[in-house]
Amino acid sequence: MVLKAKILTIFPEIFPGFLGYSLTGRALKEGLWQLETVNIRDYAFDKHGSVDDTPCGGGAGMIMRPDVLGNAIEHNYEGGKIIYMSPKGKPLTQAKVKELSKLENLTVICGRFEGIDERVIEEYDIEEISIGDYVLTGGEQAAMIMLDAVVRLLPGVLGNAASTENESFEDNLLEYPQYTRPISWKGREVPEILMSGHHENIAKWQKQQALQITKERRPDLLEKILDSK
Ligand code: SAM
Repeated sequence: MVLKAKILTIFPEIFPGFLGYSLTGRALKEGLWQLETVNIRDYAFDKHGSVDDTPCGGGAGMIMRPDVLGNAIEHNYEGGKIIYMSPKGKPLTQAKVKELSKLENLTVICGRFEGIDERVIEEYDIEEISIGDYVLTGGEQAAMIMLDAVVRLLPGVLGNAASTENESFEDNLLEYPQYTRPISWKGREVPEILMSGHHENIAKWQKQQALQITKERRPDLLEKILDSK
């Protein structure tokens, strides 16, 4: 199964952007996932390619029209989930990323201006996903971040399948500190335990470090662990 991501945007030229580099770029070239962009303006009803209009009830900015967006969706949807990148959406988590990495089709709507008409979300049963509690100028950046996280979990994308096992957010823990050579650098030493060769003790130390860091930086994650027990 190969993930096919279809991006609805008024700026198709932004893609693949950074998704064309490194692991995600190689995976794209090797056909481990597919990326297609759809220019929403191609589905407008006038010769100017108008996609937006003023908000009903007044207010600043412009809203993406439901008829144009709906037209773009209906001509391009091939099944699977439709996601709208939105600051009002549920936060993107590693658990959600994992869930999305199991899908075959992902249609992603990138908003611009002040966002999209609410009726589109209702009509097509769209899931709203936010990449964080801040407001971006457009959904393209958010879509690329979400896809980056999803694609690296696809089979064959990471060389070493084990390398996601101890990563941050696995089991709701942040990752323990990592070190490499040189062993001594600017008077700072790699913790002795990591040089001991004693795998059991190393694993214990890493777990304890992960717990400590999570407690200090993300107590909300530790609460999730406790809630799940
Ligand atoms: N008026 C909207 C609000 O207050 O919720 C913000 C619109 S924003 C300027 C334009 C587009 O950027 C949105 O339609 C959405 O697609 C995208 N966007 C902005 N912030 C985002 C975030 N944190 N996560 C995902 N998408 C975001």
